[in-house]
Amino acid sequence: MKNSDQKARNLDDIKPVDQRKEWKLLYHQSGRPGLEEGIKFKGLCPYCELRDMCSLPKPEGGVWRCNHYQAHSKKSNLYENVLKQMEKAEEVVHFDNDICKILTETMNEIVVHFPVKMKDGRVKVLKGYRVQHNNALGPFKGGMRFHPAVDIDEIKALATMMTWKTALTNIPFGGAKGGIQLDPADFSPEEMERIARRFTYALGNNIGPEYDIPAPDVNTNAQIMAWMQDTYMSTVTPTERNRCAHVVTGKPLESGGSQGREKATGQGVVFLIEKWASDHDMDLKGAPYIVQGFGNVGSWAARLMKKNGSKLIAVEDVTGAIADKNGIDPDDLASYVKEFGGVRGYQKAEPIDHVTFLGTSADIFIPCALENQITDATAELLNVKLVAEGANGPTDSEGDQVLQRRKIAVIPDILCNSGGVIVSYFEWLQNKRSEFWDIDEVDTKLKKTIIAAYDRVREAAEKYKVDWRTAAQIVALARLEMVYKERGIYP
Ligand code: NAD
Repeated sequence: MKNSDQKARNLDDIKPVDQRKEWKLLYHQSGRPGLEEGIKFKGLCPYCELRDMCSLPKPEGGVWRCNHYQAHSKKSNLYENVLKQMEKAEEVVHFDNDICKILTETMNEIVVHFPVKMKDGRVKVLKGYRVQHNNALGPFKGGMRFHPAVDIDEIKALATMMTWKTALTNIPFGGAKGGIQLDPADFSPEEMERIARRFTYALGNNIGPEYDIPAPDVNTNAQIMAWMQDTYMSTVTPTERNRCAHVVTGKPLESGGSQGREKATGQGVVFLIEKWASDHDMDLKGAPYIVQGFGNVGSWAARLMKKNGSKLIAVEDVTGAIADKNGIDPDDLASYVKEFGGVRGYQKAEPIDHVTFLGTSADIFIPCALENQITDATAELLNVKLVAEGANGPTDSEGDQVLQRRKIAVIPDILCNSGGVIVSYFEWLQNKRSEFWDIDEVDTKLKKTIIAAYDRVREAAEKYKVDWRTAAQIVALARLEMVYKERGIYP
C-alpha cells in the first residue's frame, strides 16, 4: 500500500484497541509531574503506523513524545468539543432552540478530489475540503489548512469556530474553513503551486470575493494565497478579473494584501495579553512566557511580546522544544527557524522534552500550534497564570475543566486569535474600496476592534458569572440569535 493510501485510512481502524490502551497507559505514566520524562516506545505509532507519515516529531533513538499519542487520539473530538462549548453557553442563557438547531449544523460541506501532476510525471489525486458553517452575518470566511491530520470533522469544527469568532468581534463575515490532507514536506514548491491552483479550480464558484473568502492557516501562507487568487481571477471573464482580487485575504502586499496582515493574529494576541495584564496588575516587563508553535502566529506573538520587555523562556514546535531561563531572542529564533525549518538544534538554548516544556514555570503560556494540546493530563502540568490561545481549539473540554479548577486564566481562542480575521476584513475592505491603509491605521483599528470584543467578553463573564470561554460563546451566540430573530427564516 502506498503512503498516500495509508494516510487516508481512518486512524481509529489501524490497530486493535488493546494496543491503543497500552499506548494510553504509557502516555499517562509520562504525563504526570514527577514521573519519567517522555516515553520509551520502540515501534510505530499505533495511529498512523508509519512514523514518517506523521506530522509530529520523528523519534530519536526510539523515544516518542507523548503528545504524539494525544494528537491522534483526541483529534476526532474537536467537533464534539465545539458543540459541547455551545451547549454550555445555551445552559446559561436560554437561546432560541430553533436558532441553536440551525447553528449546530454546517450549511455546506464540499469535498473535492482533484488530480495534480507530480515532478516525476505521475498524477496524484488529492482530497480537499471546504466547509461553510454559516453566512447569516456576511460572506463565509476562513483559512485553508494543509496538514496530514486534516479531515472533514476537523474542518467542520474550525469552520464553526470561525462563525463564533466573526460574530464575537462584530465583523460582517460568516464562518468557513478548508484544507487538504497532505504534508507539505512531501512536495516541491512547484508541486505545491500546482496543488494550490488545482484545489482552487476544483472549488470553482464555491468560493468567491462576495461569497466565501479563504485566508492562510497552518502550512499555508501569502504565496499560496497569491496562487489561489491568480487561479480564481484567471477563470472568470476578463471583465470580471479585477473585481475579484479580494477572493482571498492574507495576500502579499503587491497583490493587494494589507499592511499588518502577516503579523495580525500574533498582534491581536499581544494586544489582549497587554490588556489582560493591565487589568490584573501583571507587570509584563521581564515576565517569563512560553510559546508552543513558532510559525506565523507563535513567532509574531513572541516578537511583539519583546516590545513589552517580556522574557521568552521556552519554545516548542513540531521539531522539538528548547529553553533558556535567561531568555531567548524571538527575532533571532525566527531567523533560525526560517533557515532550518524548526527550533531543534538552536544553539543558544538547551533542548528539553515535551513534558518539561509544559511544566516550565512562567507567567503566560501562548499555545500557537494545533488543537487538543491542553488536555486533562497536560493541563495538570502547566505552571502558568494565563493561557492566551493563539491556536484554534488548543484546549479540550476536560483540559478546560482542569484549568478552571486550577484557577489558570484563559483568553479563549475565538477571542484571542481573532486578530487574523479582523485584519483580513480590513484587507477585504481596502480591496473593495481601492484603498491602501498604512500600518498605524491598521494597528489602531485592530486594537480598537479586538479590545471592544475583550470588553464584551469580560462583561458577559461578570454578568453571567461564567468562565471567559463560555462568556465569549454567549456573546457570539447572542449576536447570531438577534440577526436570525430580526430576519426570520425564509420563506
Ligand atoms: P504555521 O503553519 O505557520 O505554524 C504552526 C506551528 O505549529 C509550527 O511552528 C509547527 O512546527 C507547530 N506545530 C505543529 N504541530 C505541533 C506539535 N504537535 N507540537 C508542537 N508544535 C507543533 O500555522 P499558523 O498559521 O501559525 O497557525 C497556528 C495556529 O493558529 C493554528 O491553530 C491556526 O488555526 C491558528 N490561527 C492562525 C491564524 C493565522 O492568521 N495564520 C489565525 C487564527 C488562528
